[in-house]
Amino acid sequence: EVLIQNVTKSFGPLRVLDNVSLTLPSGSVTAILGQSGSGKSTLLRTVNHLERVDEGFIAIDGELVGYRQHGQTLYELKEADIRRRRTEVGMVFQNFNLFPHLTVLENLIEAPRAARGLNRAEAEELARGLLARVGLADKADAYPRQLSGGQQQRVAIARTLALKPKVLLFDEPTSALDPELVNEVLDVIKELARSGTTLIIVTHEIGFAREVADTIVFMEQGRILEVGTPEKVFNRPDHPRTAEFLAKVL
Ligand code: ATP
Ligand code: MG
Repeated sequence: EVLIQNVTKSFGPLRVLDNVSLTLPSGSVTAILGQSGSGKSTLLRTVNHLERVDEGFIAIDGELVGYRQHGQTLYELKEADIRRRRTEVGMVFQNFNLFPHLTVLENLIEAPRAARGLNRAEAEELARGLLARVGLADKADAYPRQLSGGQQQRVAIARTLALKPKVLLFDEPTSALDPELVNEVLDVIKELARSGTTLIIVTHEIGFAREVADTIVFMEQGRILEVGTPEKVFNRPDHPRTAEFLAKVL
């Protein structure tokens, strides 16, 4: 379970997250929608402590993200502990971020060896299984530049899964892709959704959000304006701004 409790975050005078609270049960799929600049990426980044919150806190399965508590006071964790905890939260970005000088297989082996202490054979077995899962078993020895954008993004997803994260965060995972490559990536995410991984997805693919998410969150100016099932949010939004946004993007 991911608990986001009264989180506030500013950059200088700009309040980017304003008292955001959300509870995401284990295995749930949450889609975050909202205009550019509404704070979606910043919110995702707070979930693995890439951004420090100013107020409030985030906890995953009851453990604080980035902090430990002593009495009433929160102390930020040491960098090494932050990095270790970060492996529990996988993040997939718009731009794949594969290591260009490593083959697909080597890209997948690196992190679980370092973070989970797997030996080469164990890491390779895991990697080959994950490549099969994203439909790329035959690309183990290719270099990233030899793959299409959609294939690179599927490798990036497999690489994240190799760390067995409790939560997977996707920040517009298909927005850098040519339109004909979007679906192969969305299909992989759909499969993850069915498999019971806790997912938080920032996306402009409204149809996909509607189909896959249990919960839709609509953000505006750092606030959550609306939370509900797709059925509710798309058909009977409580807030007129939600309806306006959806009318523009649908
Ligand atoms: P988009 O749909 O364009 O990706 P978003 O909803 O993800 O937008 P954020 O990236 O979270 O929006 O940014 C929210 C606001 O915070 C924006 O006004 C942005 O300019 C500002 N912001 C984000 N990161 C920083 C930073 N490191 N320093 C200063 N301002 C920042
Ligand atoms: Mg963003």
